[in-house]
Amino acid sequence: MADIIRSVRGMNDILPDVTPYWQAVETTLNDVLRSYGYQEIRFPIVEKTALFCRSIGEVTDIVEKEMYSFDDRNGESLTLRPEGTAGCVRAAMQNGLLNQTQRLWYQGPMFRYERPQKGRYRQFHQIGVEAYGFKGPDIDAEMILMTARLWKQLGLRGLKLQINSLGSTEARLLYKAKLIDYFELHRDQLDEDSQRRLHSNPLRILDSKNPEMQALNDGAPMLLDHLDKESEQDFNALCEALDSVGLIYEINPRLVRGLDYYGKTVFEWVTEHLGSQGTVCAGGRYDGLVSQLGGKAATAIGFAIGLERLISLLEAMDALPKIETIDAYIVAVGDKAVREALLLAERLRDEVPGLKLITHCGGGNFKSQFKHADRSGARWSLILGDDEINNKVIGVKTMATGEQETVSWDVLANYLQS
Ligand code: ATP
Ligand code: MG
Repeated sequence: MADIIRSVRGMNDILPDVTPYWQAVETTLNDVLRSYGYQEIRFPIVEKTALFCRSIGEVTDIVEKEMYSFDDRNGESLTLRPEGTAGCVRAAMQNGLLNQTQRLWYQGPMFRYERPQKGRYRQFHQIGVEAYGFKGPDIDAEMILMTARLWKQLGLRGLKLQINSLGSTEARLLYKAKLIDYFELHRDQLDEDSQRRLHSNPLRILDSKNPEMQALNDGAPMLLDHLDKESEQDFNALCEALDSVGLIYEINPRLVRGLDYYGKTVFEWVTEHLGSQGTVCAGGRYDGLVSQLGGKAATAIGFAIGLERLISLLEAMDALPKIETIDAYIVAVGDKAVREALLLAERLRDEVPGLKLITHCGGGNFKSQFKHADRSGARWSLILGDDEINNKVIGVKTMATGEQETVSWDVLANYLQS
């Protein structure tokens, strides 16, 4: 027998027993986003490799070692998107959307060649949100409040908000020099990755997940102490806005984010309930990216939610959404009954909006059809045989109790609606 071809490592099937949770979560999130005036944008999963190199940054984990890049048949280097911001900016620029303010969202798969483990996959899914043309910090505050509302709407507790400011590009440059001086003094304590990044991207050292780097990082100078005036004012205004609605947050001066394009406000929502993959939502301001990609300068801020982690967290907190079950399952035995069942089912779907009704297909005796009805989780079985057809009635069995009664066809819709 031929070998069975299995899925790619780290790329998972999302099976029908869990897709209803995904759908319910996505619907809730989409509703909240729409309620703030965000509009959906769809852009390709594949982009030119240069787009990601230029936006995310050459010396980041993503570009250095996580991208799925390949040459197409013309020899052009393409990449499966590792995140959505770059493609969203590209699409907005290319289509002239940046001439005015925009509130946009998107969702879909992202691809990163990471070591697969719980909460970290090679294909994962994000809902991303971007706002263009707003200077802030009012939009920063609104966006963070919107994320808080997302969790509230999902009935999710257990997420903590962390915020920080990365300052202006100039302030960051000055700070980087200080940081390099500090790490130079402790060069022997830097791990391999950090040694490599010392001069190219010292901020990323602060983002290290290596516990042995913790103490060294704790002693490093803090970017928050080296902010430019405008960033400091904006950050204070953001904090005030969050305070004024009583949203609890923690200022985490080590929060630097893994991508190069961020500046000023950054934030993450984290949980202790998912082990080390605890960041469920992350984002920040990236005012420099549009001009860096060749467009006319436009301010920008956004965030992305990791849906796998969000759904795991809902599960861990026993807060998965209630999912709809099947209302009725039609059991029909005999040629005439099978024909009648199809017609009856169509009529019921017309008359009972939202009815979830399965018609047994594929034949079989009453016993085997009842097994299917049972497995479907339907509330009622609707039973059609020769006798029922002759009398224009149907047997209605309440699956939970086993009780059965006979209902005439013309009142069946009413019965199911009750
Ligand atoms: P991490 O620090 O966990 O690697 P990140 O900073 O690389 O995350 P972002 O690029 O900011 O993550 O992506 C936003 C969100 O997408 C993350 O907070 C997380 O919820 C989710 N995410 C990122 N990478 C993965 C992955 N490989 N598998 C599953 N979810 C992911
Ligand atoms: Mg990462």
